[in-house]
Amino acid sequence: MTSILLFGPPGVGKGTHAKRLGETLGVPVISTGQIFRSNIEGETELGKLAVSYIDRGELVPDTVTVPMVQARLSAPDVDNGFILDGFPRTIEQAHMLRDILAEDESVNIDVVLELDASEDILMQRLAKRMREEQRSDDHEDIFRHRIDVYRQRTEPVATYYADQDMLDVVDASGDIELTAERLISALKARGLAS
Ligand code: AMP
Repeated sequence: MTSILLFGPPGVGKGTHAKRLGETLGVPVISTGQIFRSNIEGETELGKLAVSYIDRGELVPDTVTVPMVQARLSAPDVDNGFILDGFPRTIEQAHMLRDILAEDESVNIDVVLELDASEDILMQRLAKRMREEQRSDDHEDIFRHRIDVYRQRTEPVATYYADQDMLDVVDASGDIELTAERLISALKARGLAS
């Protein structure tokens, strides 16, 4: 069983690599951004609560996000591991995740993988995604704000896990295949993949 937190700035390729790692390791992917987008599309109460924050590039409040993650982590399919993409995004959320996991001894985080790329590369990938997908928060000014929110609120989470020797930073500036290989190498180095 392998449980991974995947972490990195907007546009770095978290969603793509979460999906690939989930398939390689045979574990479900829990993507908070994706859960929000499905709820917005389905016009659920959760979607209605989240949409204005997401469209402004702000974080959805913890009162909405944390119970959603807690409910998802209590589903039986995560007992054999999972990839968590997009959570925690703040130190407070990291503490809440620690508390959620402490309630269930069978679930532990094995490693935190941070995907890293320069802001120039993130902007290039945004331009590509804007041509291919229609995400309501993928406008240049909102995207830049999401990067700022990431630097201010989410980057300190990396230090939190580095202090516990749980963090591996993976260079994600190359193409998808190269980054996928680097991620698998990082997992192998920790004995989490063969
Ligand atoms: P993502 O798909 O990971 O880029 O997330 C898209 C948007 O969903 C973010 O810009 C936030 O508005 C919201 N979101 C996703 N995960 C979280 C989280 N852990 N806490 C608060 N908001 C989140």
